[in-house]
Amino acid sequence: MDSNNDGVGDINGLISRLDYLKKLGVDGVWLSPIYESPMKDFGYDVSNYYGIDSVFGTLNDFDRLVNELHARNIKLIMDLVLNHTSDQHPWFIESKSSKQNPKRDWYIWRDPAADGLPPNDWQGDFGGSAWTYEPATNQYYLHSFLEQQPDLNWANPEVQMAIQQVMRFWYGRGVDGFRVDAILFSSKNLDIKQTLYRQKAHEKDVLAQDFAAAFNRGADQHLREYIEVLSSTTKEFRDRCLFLEAYPDPGREDPLGYVGLYDYFDNTVDQVFYFGMLNAADGWDAQKFKYHIHTFQHALKPESTPAYVLGNHDRPRIASRIGVNAARTAAMALLTLPGTKFIYYGDEIGMVNANIPTDQLKDPSNINRDMVRTPMQWTAGEYAGFSDSQPWLPVNPNYSQLNVEYETQDERSILALYCKLLALRVEFPVLMEGRYELEEVAHPRIFSYKRILSDKSMLIIINFSPKSVMFDTARSSGVLRLSSYLDIDEKVVQLSSVQLRPNEGWIVELKD
Ligand code: BGC
Repeated sequence: MDSNNDGVGDINGLISRLDYLKKLGVDGVWLSPIYESPMKDFGYDVSNYYGIDSVFGTLNDFDRLVNELHARNIKLIMDLVLNHTSDQHPWFIESKSSKQNPKRDWYIWRDPAADGLPPNDWQGDFGGSAWTYEPATNQYYLHSFLEQQPDLNWANPEVQMAIQQVMRFWYGRGVDGFRVDAILFSSKNLDIKQTLYRQKAHEKDVLAQDFAAAFNRGADQHLREYIEVLSSTTKEFRDRCLFLEAYPDPGREDPLGYVGLYDYFDNTVDQVFYFGMLNAADGWDAQKFKYHIHTFQHALKPESTPAYVLGNHDRPRIASRIGVNAARTAAMALLTLPGTKFIYYGDEIGMVNANIPTDQLKDPSNINRDMVRTPMQWTAGEYAGFSDSQPWLPVNPNYSQLNVEYETQDERSILALYCKLLALRVEFPVLMEGRYELEEVAHPRIFSYKRILSDKSMLIIINFSPKSVMFDTARSSGVLRLSSYLDIDEKVVQLSSVQLRPNEGWIVELKD
């Protein structure tokens, strides 16, 4: 939400919408980076960790945001971009100035290979070589992403301390946690050739616990040390947490790879996003989804808290990937599985990928992420009520009916469903704290599971088919608490034989 009509969302705009978030029922907000930045990668290139970029507001606005959020009992998660800074960060400007500069070793500098080529064959995540040559000192610097995002040298304790200071600064200002960006990139072994790493990573016998050796160019035991730096800093404060962006790369889809990540990290303050759910949703197939969710959930240690996610600022919108109807049941799964759930803004109203003309694209990466970053659709008014002037990315033209105002009037909208699901989690603690158990249902299009907390059990049944399905269960009856269609009042339902409509999900309180 843009408050000053420069076309970009900002802190004061967000403050003006906090009541919406409260009503929706979320209890935390994760903000993509709002630190000072030249915005080459839209904030993921930080030039000052201690300042708010003027496009988003001021530190005073930020303090007000923290107060307003906390007054509503909503937590604030900031993004922590620690693998790299902007090339405009004073640390890098110093570092590149001379080989003798005290900050030289804060970044990763290497001599050219014998033939003047980059030191190794690593590619940046956005394409092209991961090395850029600096003629002034005749060395290359490493950048895992854009050349304007030089990698910090995490092997240098001064760098670790500098980031600890950043964390303390924001924790001291009331931030409740960080979403840690691209953490796997921080630890690397420059001797490993990328080509070799890729071969090794594809070997079938790479075990989950060996993932550290296989992913991210031979990330070694240092990764654990770096996470420990973050965890211990977090533990200096009360009730703070970390959400780690980490993939068991390249087995991004491997549920046991994620379990390996959970086991590898310190579960006392950290949670790792389970992107397996995001991948599992592709194709919207009950058996595939079951495989990814159940395998993961079953293998996870009881003390590990999963962080489920269906979408984010890097990935296509869930409603585009599986269709708006299926997105309703995806929401049901998201909000009835154990752990922490992240909802990407606009997914709760069913926003879809926007078709943006090539000449208006802004994303520097080689994947089109702009299509999921278009302005939030608040109303049917001009620019969807996001701003009074042309926003930084075009508004999706579907906004006249796909917007918060419209859906608030419609008691069966996907927005109403999200509100209801979030409210149910509060009404029935079993949905928040209960353990997960698979419910075997002999139908290939159904995925079903229970949440159990002492004598309370909730059964979740999801029809992945765009057609009606009928099936039998070994149960007699229960109380239907919610149908994803939102058109059935709570009532006792027979479970011996169940009929679900196309893409319908049920939440049933079990009595037997
Ligand atoms: C973020 C991206 C960002 C990249 C580089 C990520 O994984 O989610 O949006 O471009 O890190 O910081």
